[in-house]
Amino acid sequence: MAQSFVFSKADFDSFFRVLQSLGEVSAPIRVSDQSFAFKQINDPREIAWDALRTILPPKKFFYPPKETLLTYKDGQIEESVSDNKFQVIFGVHPCDLHGLGIMDTIFEAGPADTHYLQKRNHSLIVGLSCMPDKFCFCQSMGTSCATRGYDLFLTDLDDDFFLQVETPAGSAVLPQLPMLRPAEDADKERYKDYWLRREKAFTNGFAPDNLRATMDMEWNNSLWDDLGKRCLSCGNCTPVCPTCYCFDLVDIASLSDDEGSRVREWDSCQFVGFAQVAGDYNFRPSPVDRLKFWYRHKLHGFDDAFASRTCVGCGRCTVSCPAGIDDLVQVVKTLQGQKEGKE
Ligand code: SF4
Ligand code: SF4
Repeated sequence: MAQSFVFSKADFDSFFRVLQSLGEVSAPIRVSDQSFAFKQINDPREIAWDALRTILPPKKFFYPPKETLLTYKDGQIEESVSDNKFQVIFGVHPCDLHGLGIMDTIFEAGPADTHYLQKRNHSLIVGLSCMPDKFCFCQSMGTSCATRGYDLFLTDLDDDFFLQVETPAGSAVLPQLPMLRPAEDADKERYKDYWLRREKAFTNGFAPDNLRATMDMEWNNSLWDDLGKRCLSCGNCTPVCPTCYCFDLVDIASLSDDEGSRVREWDSCQFVGFAQVAGDYNFRPSPVDRLKFWYRHKLHGFDDAFASRTCVGCGRCTVSCPAGIDDLVQVVKTLQGQKEGKE
């Protein structure tokens, strides 16, 4: 295990102030009765400790919905650079940490995306343990324990936090945290008990074997037609996904055409124009084509290139689908021929 420490929750305010001394701290806060969002905070009392899934995942801090990549004027092109403002993102759960790890892999793959990496390299990620609700299925996707994407990780041990340090950036903060004491055997037992309890708390999920074969063999299953008829092609399922990264490039020119900018905006493979090419040909003209493409991408499309699946089991697509059809667990179970319904 990485270096591990324990500190009392009574000292959390001091812990938070140290994070704040590093840069702007963002954490999940409550934004309505049932929804949470990562926002910049100044007071630890703003943190919504019961938040499971935020509306948007933390990818928004490094890959914003809209971003100017370059500007040009009088024949001179200037590439945009990050303001190098240091950010601390607090309270990231294991599924979202895996999501960030996948985004790192994608944006680091050549040619590396400096716009993403500059922001990512000026951040400290503090993970936080969580108990699953009826939508969580990270256990099925192998993403229920934090293994990547974070610098520090806190596990909730009732009156204490168990702190794991994963990276040199995380270690660099330690001298400023006098409230820490090294974890003893009894603390490690409490830590193990927590994670065992958590493993047993999952009520949602599926057998994750043979997802590629399931998708291939059930490509013409009538379920897809049913889902396709009900899909609104609204694209809600993609911005909320921690690992959806498709974008559109928009060139905005001034009327005199001697200055302008190139802007990157989030796009969605569920939009009808996403796969439209010159000659008015569309590779995925109907909602069912686009849904199947997305499911394949999430369930096994990245196995070959990156040896990982891109669904991390956060449940955001299910809760945000206005048509009530994007229940990935039920879709997989139906394709696998499993008959039991969700609790
Ligand atoms: S596909 Fe759905 S459940 Fe899976 S990571 Fe994306 S939003 Fe979360
Ligand atoms: S959120 Fe639901 S209705 Fe909207 S595009 Fe996705 S699957 Fe279709």
